[in-house]
Amino acid sequence: MLAYQHAYHAGNFADVHKHLVLFAVQRNLLRKESQITYIDTHAGRGYYPLQGIETQKLKEYQTGVLPLWQAFPPSTFQQGGTLVDEWVGELRRAQGGDGSRLTHYPGSPWWLASMLRPQDRLTLFELHPGEHRHLDAQTLPSRARRLHEDGLKGLRRLLPVATPRLCVLIDPSYERKEEYAEVAETLEFVARKARHAVVLVWYPLLPAGRHQNLLDAVRQAGLRKLWRSELRMHAPDGEHGMYGSGMLLFNPPWGLDRQIEDAMGRVTTCLGAETSHQGQWWVGE
Ligand code: SAM
Repeated sequence: MLAYQHAYHAGNFADVHKHLVLFAVQRNLLRKESQITYIDTHAGRGYYPLQGIETQKLKEYQTGVLPLWQAFPPSTFQQGGTLVDEWVGELRRAQGGDGSRLTHYPGSPWWLASMLRPQDRLTLFELHPGEHRHLDAQTLPSRARRLHEDGLKGLRRLLPVATPRLCVLIDPSYERKEEYAEVAETLEFVARKARHAVVLVWYPLLPAGRHQNLLDAVRQAGLRKLWRSELRMHAPDGEHGMYGSGMLLFNPPWGLDRQIEDAMGRVTTCLGAETSHQGQWWVGE
């Protein structure tokens, strides 16, 4: 089943949460010179015009990236400012031109590629043929290779990597409920093959609560140093509908928990009165 297309949801609150956490991790990793391999198991198209037909259907960016964009105009931008200032600054850069209008939303391939140094490598997996064609059409550095393959199997195949450091983003669509268990098994595999890898796993907060199976499985598998960040837009409401976004981080860089708590405090202020964030060690060291 490959029905999901991220263009319908580009720039929504979950994207803001996921890409802000990803950006924070990258910023921390870049403090050291040593080479990094980045792997994005579910890449999507990489770059989304907000006026595109799919994105205009649901207009989810209007309750995600747009309020943040409006709350941080260029006049307030300071280099070396807060994480959210820096993130919105990058978002401006992603617009092209003078960056004064929000016309596009960049996906994880763009965020990862934007900070790629000459010594780093990036592998992007995308299984959907149409989405992969879009991804292939993006302008990315030559060190960013795009593979039309299953992302979790592909990740296993690439381990261990040749570089001293590894950073993985696992961001499935969870169209099949088995994906929660598959992600947990994959995280366990990565932890065995690359003990120091930094892994970011995104999961949706849905009324069925299946993300709990993923969280319980990795704890039961004995993994340590797992921190989670959850952004809730409102209380669970009815049987369907995503009410929040979760990120589980394996081996988060030191100090990241406080940086994210602070940034998400600013984000929730922009996203509305019902919005809240909770950061918590799921399993400590
Ligand atoms: N990571 C992207 C971002 O942040 O911009 C969004 C990814 S979207 C949530 C999930 C993507 O995974 C979709 O583009 C879908 O086509 C793709 N996909 C679904 N099953 C896959 C699989 N087994 N392997 C790789 N990609 C898959």
